Formats: sequence, structure tokens, C-alpha cells
Amino acid sequence: MELYSGHINKLIEELAALPGIGGKSAQRLAFHLINMPKDKVKRLADTMLEARENVRYCRECYTLTDREVCPVCSNAKRNHGLVMVVENTRDLAAYEKTGRYDGVYHVLHGAISPMLGIGPGEIRLKELMERLRGDVEEVIIATNSSLEGETTAMYIAKLVKPVGVKVTRIASGVPVGGDLEYIDEVTLLRALEGRVEL
Ligand code: ZN
Repeated sequence: MELYSGHINKLIEELAALPGIGGKSAQRLAFHLINMPKDKVKRLADTMLEARENVRYCRECYTLTDREVCPVCSNAKRNHGLVMVVENTRDLAAYEKTGRYDGVYHVLHGAISPMLGIGPGEIRLKELMERLRGDVEEVIIATNSSLEGETTAMYIAKLVKPVGVKVTRIASGVPVGGDLEYIDEVTLLRALEGRVEL
């Protein structure tokens, strides 16, 4: 016997397919949505669609942005010779929040994970190597200190060093396995300032 109407079941199913939302949260959200005024539900749905349609990857650093080139890359005051490699746009945002980093970024959109079958070809590594043909002085690897993040860091160091560009790794003050976005600004800055050459 179906406990809820087909529409509610479908809604719960779709919500539960989102990352970080379990069955119970999906049910709670579904009932919350059903009880919301229709215009608010429409606004939410429209916002999601608009974001999906208008957000794209920056042509230079591959972060998610509304423009062809993101605000960081298009800022002439930033040091374009300093490239910090991060796993995702949330990590970039974490460093931007400190307000103390004046270089630019490169967003990989993932990390190498043999366990999950994610190889070097699945993240934006080729694009990073293409950028190094320009005037890049230093690549700071700021991937997470998880197994995947460390594997990725080692892989990048091996690729970049022969090109003759300085490669550094942020200091390990960052808790193991901790996502960069959850780490406070002081710790991030300390990790950045204490970076070591690989
Ligand atoms: Zn950019």
C-alpha cells in the first residue's frame, strides 16, 4: 500500500537523491514544500532553474561563475603568477573569505580517487597544465588532507615540477580528512603561510 500520494512519493525520491539528504530529511522537506505558499515554491523552482542555466565554468580557473571570466580572474590587481589549486568552488570561497590571498585559483572539481574510479583525466588537470604555459611562478596545492587530496597533490607535483614552475603544498595544520570549507580562517591562513616546497 502506498502511504503517500504518488506525487509526494516522487518528490521525496527526488530530494533523497541529493547529496547529504537522507530519507527522513527528504520526507521533512517534501512536506515542508507541500505546505509552502505556491508562489514561494515557484520562486524556489525558478531560482534553481536559473542557477542551473546561467552558472558556468570560468574560462581561466574553472570555478563556477555567472560570467565568462570570474571576478577573481578578471581582477588585474590579483597576482596572476600565483595559482592556488583547490578541489572545488567551496574551497575557493573559503580562501576568498580570509581576504588575505591575492593570487588566483585553479579549480579541479574533484580529486584523484582510485577507490571511486576517479582518475587524473576526470579532474581539470589538463587545463592546469595548459595554464602553466603562461607566466606562472608558483603553484600552491591546496587540496584537502584526505587520502584523495594527498594523492592528487603528489600527482600534480610530479606533473608540474618538470615544467620548471615552483610547486608548494599548504602546511598540514589542516585537520586530516577535513573539508577546507569547514576550517576557520586563521587555520587556513596559517596553512597558506606555512606552505612548503615540494
Ligand atoms: Zn576564474
